[in-house]
Amino acid sequence: MDTQTSIESLPKVGKASAPKLRKLDIRTVADLLGYYPFRYDDFTETKKINQLKAGERCNITGTVEMIDSKRSPRKRISITEALISDDSDTIKAVWFNQPFIATTIKAGDQLSISGKVDEDFAGLYFSSPSYEKIVNGLSIHTQGLIPNYPLTAGLTQKQLRFWIKEAIQLAGELPEWLPDEMLKRYNLSAYNQAILQVHFPKNQKDLDSARHRLAFDELLLVQYRSQLVKLRLEQTKAKAIEFQEEATRKFVASLPFALTTGQRQAAWEILQDLAKDKPMMRLLQGDVGSGKTIVAVIAMLNVVLNNRQAALMAPTEILAKQHYQSISRLLMPLGIRVGLLTGSDKKYSQSTDGKKIKADKIVKEAQVIIGTHALIQADLEYPDLALVIIDEQHRFGVEQRQALSDKAKASDTNFEPHLLSMTATPIPRTLALSLYDDLAVSLIPEMPKNRLPIITEVVADHERHRAYGMVAAEISAGRQAFVICPLIDPADNFGTKSVKEEYERLKNDPAFANIEIGLLHGKLTPKAKDQVMADFASGQIQLIVATAVVEVGVDVPNATVMLIESAESFGLAQLHQYRGRVGRGAHQSYCYLLAGDLSDKSRQRLEAMTKYNSGFALAQEDLKFRGPGEVYGTVQKGFPELKIASLFDFALMQEARDAARWLATNCTQTELASLNQKLAEISNKAHLE
Ligand code: ADP
Ligand code: MG
Repeated sequence: MDTQTSIESLPKVGKASAPKLRKLDIRTVADLLGYYPFRYDDFTETKKINQLKAGERCNITGTVEMIDSKRSPRKRISITEALISDDSDTIKAVWFNQPFIATTIKAGDQLSISGKVDEDFAGLYFSSPSYEKIVNGLSIHTQGLIPNYPLTAGLTQKQLRFWIKEAIQLAGELPEWLPDEMLKRYNLSAYNQAILQVHFPKNQKDLDSARHRLAFDELLLVQYRSQLVKLRLEQTKAKAIEFQEEATRKFVASLPFALTTGQRQAAWEILQDLAKDKPMMRLLQGDVGSGKTIVAVIAMLNVVLNNRQAALMAPTEILAKQHYQSISRLLMPLGIRVGLLTGSDKKYSQSTDGKKIKADKIVKEAQVIIGTHALIQADLEYPDLALVIIDEQHRFGVEQRQALSDKAKASDTNFEPHLLSMTATPIPRTLALSLYDDLAVSLIPEMPKNRLPIITEVVADHERHRAYGMVAAEISAGRQAFVICPLIDPADNFGTKSVKEEYERLKNDPAFANIEIGLLHGKLTPKAKDQVMADFASGQIQLIVATAVVEVGVDVPNATVMLIESAESFGLAQLHQYRGRVGRGAHQSYCYLLAGDLSDKSRQRLEAMTKYNSGFALAQEDLKFRGPGEVYGTVQKGFPELKIASLFDFALMQEARDAARWLATNCTQTELASLNQKLAEISNKAHLE
């Protein structure tokens, strides 16, 4: 057996537990060793029985004098009692409804017990304590700092500890992947030592240094990866895009609105980057509805005027098509060829409609190409791609983003494209900068002037008619509305709303008698989805009942009401994205959060939506309810999972960044081989999801 051995080879894993372990992403012994505890129970002090006091939690060891299980005559429960003694005294332990204990433990066994000491008229006793036979003087469940692991249904702490104990003998074989000098410089414990001690620490000090080493590792890999990108980019060239000042001014002047200061500033920063023969790496951040798209269009326009191509990749078909429509409306009058490429749709602005066009024709001939991940299909060759734009970048994995850049390189291996990522994800600026050494950030801090803050309300279930009244009133005033439900089918019985049910119900509701209602969810064919979206955009449908498919990007400025069913089942970031579908025009907009019975905490969380209109403020608020890992982990796809490190540990982050720079500049490729291997492993994992 070695660390790459499949977990099935461990004793007692078998056919039943292996799939459950796989659910936790544990496939090999090495995976198991890399599955860290999230908490430790402190049973470091083993007491003598005659020192015990009622009410304390502690651990004792002793010999079993007698053990017996019987049924309580009145209550029909089984009671197992044992007497355990050490050299100071004897104490009773009692368990309820676990009769098997009396068959696994025998008089004469050495036993370790931990738990709470209770007291009744007969004296002190342990009530349902954790217990463990001591074999060869070893215990893993009841003495010392006892690890607790994140579990999945059907697995227990005892099982995980048992398997990890079996596997830990192999920890010694785990290779050190950092150079020796690095360990000394940053005062780090050896990797295999850290793995051993994170699972079975002898004391708090050992645990602290193990966690320090493993947290450092996680942040180091993030920083090292971005160092590599930075070094590579420093050595590559991009095609300089000359700023076409006059044409740009004319284009901006032709827009139906004036750009906000933030949009101007961001566009200016981007155009300056593009003019260099170094590849741009820039993140454009702006809250939902702040108008990032037009900034991207200005960049694309300049690329086209330099006789080169630009591509924009969006995470969903709906969004790609919408971008295609609005962008071709802006650019086609200037004679620019705009193409659309998704899994189900290929369009090209200067071809006759209805004709089938091949994807490679679009890619060859269009100057601006918009699409989904269909843009990165293996056989597509872009003749002169100079700018790559990723919309809603947090929805893509690192590899997908990279794949589009690689497309550009394929046409001319001497050049790297300029890269612009766009996101509404509120990663604080300082955090973004410290995370990505290689990335420049532009921020659109304000909303367009014509916007009114969206009025948001939490509405109890019994008041839902009031919210419906508002929806109907807005629609009769000529506006449009969304109803969002978490589910497609009425699948569960927890009262969570499904779109299909809701659609039927609203269609039969007299209040909505003269209203066209559309149904939109992920299981519809792309064609059906398009039709609904097109009808909504043109105003033929006034109300859309939808699932999460409308989460990002959808832009219909005439929509002013958003009603979200079972709002408590969504995270704040997600709710904010939904709400961003309204309030995109000059009309006052409303958002109603329908919720069933709420705990105080859920209510407070939803109330935050009524208080804050900005995504940044909400993200900070969300941190109070969830851990930083959850907030950023779920919104930042392709970011390696941080199991131990905290994104908010700035000191350690700085140190890791420092170390990554040191590694990249001071070590030979041979010294870095195992580090590169490690990096490839996490990239592969990110790819699997
Ligand atoms: P997001 O940043 O969420 O991608 P969009 O680019 O989709 O936002 O813009 C949202 C809406 O605001 C669009 O309808 C767009 O035409 C409009 N818009 C963009 N900039 C301005 C502006 N400066 N003034 C008024 N409306 C604007
Ligand atoms: Mg957008």
